[in-house]
Amino acid sequence: MVFGPVPSRRLGLSLGVNNVYDKHCTYSCVYCQVGRTTNLSVRRREYYEPDALVDEVVRAVRERAPEVITFVPNGEPTLDANLGLEARGIKEKVFQPLAIMSNGSLLWREDVVGDLLLFDIVSVKVDTVWEKTWRRLNRPHPFLRLDDILEGIILFSRRYSGNLISEHMLVEGLNSNREEAKDLASYMEEVSPRAAYITLPLRPPAEAWVKPPSRGVVEVFKEALSSSLGPDRVYVLGGLERGPPKVEGDPVAEILKILEVHPLRMDQLEALCSTMGLEPSSMLRELRDRGVDVEVFLGRKFLVLRRRKFSPRSSRPSP
Ligand code: SF4
Repeated sequence: MVFGPVPSRRLGLSLGVNNVYDKHCTYSCVYCQVGRTTNLSVRRREYYEPDALVDEVVRAVRERAPEVITFVPNGEPTLDANLGLEARGIKEKVFQPLAIMSNGSLLWREDVVGDLLLFDIVSVKVDTVWEKTWRRLNRPHPFLRLDDILEGIILFSRRYSGNLISEHMLVEGLNSNREEAKDLASYMEEVSPRAAYITLPLRPPAEAWVKPPSRGVVEVFKEALSSSLGPDRVYVLGGLERGPPKVEGDPVAEILKILEVHPLRMDQLEALCSTMGLEPSSMLRELRDRGVDVEVFLGRKFLVLRRRKFSPRSSRPSP
């Protein structure tokens, strides 16, 4: 349920809360760093007993002193029907800001809006405002409609007084043209987040053909968003976070909890072992015994925990 804290490029030292398990998500993004969605769903349901989750978070906050607590699960956090109860319970007991990384796809629902209004920081994903691209890139549950989602995000942004940020993942050949950048930017002007983050697939993605676009394409999106939001509100997250995660207790169990939600670079594992006086090769052996693989992406080695492997038949969608 709880992992880290891990260094987050946007939020600082972040204690992760994994409130959804078994990759339940409303999307199956081609770039997802935890692999393909095994449980594509739009039905909110209970995952953990809320008091148990709150107790574990509060205990970890007291022991590990993170800067922020972030709901960033193995899937979409708003699928958790107890999200509001959990957020209220945590906020009553600790002072650290509470953040959530959502894909925003259920923001047309009033109960989801009510839950997200409780968070101090809400991140929503808007990779595209084009229906065709959305279907290829985010591969949504068939029940979802892009128009409802985009309208829901705008209505939420008008009611929310906390720190709203947005994420825009760019994938070569999918959402990488000038017209698309212009349409995304004019939509985001209406949402008006405090900060918009352009992100790139830098960790092993669900589909092996996914690559970051060229620097020129990134600049096109940056300029378009900057002209809508102002240059001081647009950031490109073009690098990976520095330093190893902070690990308390059994290092193998703690690393597995991190790998449930994202791959870890090999150099982070080595740095972690060196701070804890552990031998990286024996740690790696233990992790491999628990189903962890090593994958190379963009020339870097990563530890990954996949429920489904890349399919050799996985192919790029036709234009
Ligand atoms: S990237 Fe996020 S929204 Fe997309 S499939 Fe993965 S968990 Fe779901």
